[in-house]
Amino acid sequence: MRNLVFGRRATDRRRRSVRKLELAALSRYLSVESAKLQARDAAMLKTDTRQANWRRANPAKYNAHLAVQRAVKAGELEKQACEVCGIEMVDAHHDQYDDPLKVRWLCRRHHTRLHHYGEDMFPIRNGL
Ligand SMILES: [Zn+2]
Ligand SMILES: [Zn+2]
Repeated sequence: MRNLVFGRRATDRRRRSVRKLELAALSRYLSVESAKLQARDAAMLKTDTRQANWRRANPAKYNAHLAVQRAVKAGELEKQACEVCGIEMVDAHHDQYDDPLKVRWLCRRHHTRLHHYGEDMFPIRNGL
């Protein structure tokens, strides 16, 4: 009788401790998952904020960019090959933003290079 009671208690205690372990594992798992989610949200927020900051800081550039996209889509503006190397994968580059559809077409490499070295890195060479 005594042994039986003791035995049952021991089983209960073991069962409780197993459950405690499971809960610990579960909460560890949940905290890892929620940390992952938080990191992802933070990354998304950071990207959004960076983009929004850029728009806020460069409204003219952003509007000019939109105007070009719209004009190209509407067929009012035709994409040209890169004015430096002739590659056809190009970005529109603005020398000034007051005339948003006055752009220079540059491939990613030459566009980056132009911004890196300065606006007059590639003067427009007529007939060359
Ligand atoms: Zn190029
Ligand atoms: Zn540019």
